[in-house]
Amino acid sequence: MNANRLRILSALALTGLLAGCTVQTAWDASPASSSAASSAAPSPAASAAAAAPTKPPLAASKPPVSAKPPEPSRKPAASPSAVATPSAATATTPAATAAATPSPTSAHSAAPTAQKTAAPSASAKPSSSEEKKTLSWYYMKKGPGKVPGFPAETAKYGPDRRAVYVGTGRKVYLTFDTGGPMGDTAKLLKALRDNGVKANFFLAGYNLKKYPDFVKQLVADGDLVANHTMTHTDMTTQTDAEVEKEVRDYELLFEKTTGQPMTRIFRFPYGKYNLHLLEKLTSMGYTSVFWSTAMRDWEPRKNGADDAYRDVMNGLHDGNIILMHQGSEDNINALDRIIKGIKAKGYEFALLTDFLS
Ligand SMILES: [Zn+2]
Repeated sequence: MNANRLRILSALALTGLLAGCTVQTAWDASPASSSAASSAAPSPAASAAAAAPTKPPLAASKPPVSAKPPEPSRKPAASPSAVATPSAATATTPAATAAATPSPTSAHSAAPTAQKTAAPSASAKPSSSEEKKTLSWYYMKKGPGKVPGFPAETAKYGPDRRAVYVGTGRKVYLTFDTGGPMGDTAKLLKALRDNGVKANFFLAGYNLKKYPDFVKQLVADGDLVANHTMTHTDMTTQTDAEVEKEVRDYELLFEKTTGQPMTRIFRFPYGKYNLHLLEKLTSMGYTSVFWSTAMRDWEPRKNGADDAYRDVMNGLHDGNIILMHQGSEDNINALDRIIKGIKAKGYEFALLTDFLS
């Protein structure tokens, strides 16, 4: 929305990075730009990735993903790695590349597996400009069954910046992002219930307000509904007071709608954030969740539900936090098959409350 952002977007467009982004914008993806940002940062990322693995993960941190658009995978062939992040997608290229590079290097393989939680170095306090630097979540694919690589900044997560992007063990976390259209909610719920699966939902506040019965149904069924802000705005453009209002208003609306307390789990719209915001959310009692699989699902897939199924199955790994946009018809059409496929691989479905201590 501001000139800088536009400038960045333009630059990205030139680069070709935007591809996915733009689209995203429409949904939740907007962050595309961010991705770009992230991409820019690639180098660091790379190192980061490496770094992260090395360190011991934090408990708290296990991470998920944010939302958005996974995209990349395909397109960026080049950078498969890039894929991960939805937003990233956008950025894909650069990031990916970068990422890719890094990851390999390091211990990736080794460490990553476990989880990434990262966190270690929380103590080192970054400068204020570093803390406010806009980051766009992404991940770097490493192949079927492997935990992806994650950006360098995850090394700065920790007790004061609680964030999770992947878990451990034979568990999968299905997370639905509903910053956009609601999609076929009946079909979605049927696929979950028929298979006895509970999922995690990040609805924008305006959807929570407009579809209270859907939210009440989720809560009654035991699904997790977590905080995704009232307006689904890029939080990096907001003042602290605005961020607080976005989050607290959501809590109030959720509690009024469902009669239940809000679980302190948060996802940044578009996966756009900065270290300062992570701290801010942590100080408000939240654990931020990103993701380790996302798809280019903000637009119709070439092969429809088959593409959605393939993306999820190809990215499946221990502790996988899967980001799916609820408004994607392809996702919903593939959901029953996806759930059965994941179960067939020996995974169980879990809620993000696993990451709360
Ligand atoms: Zn969203």
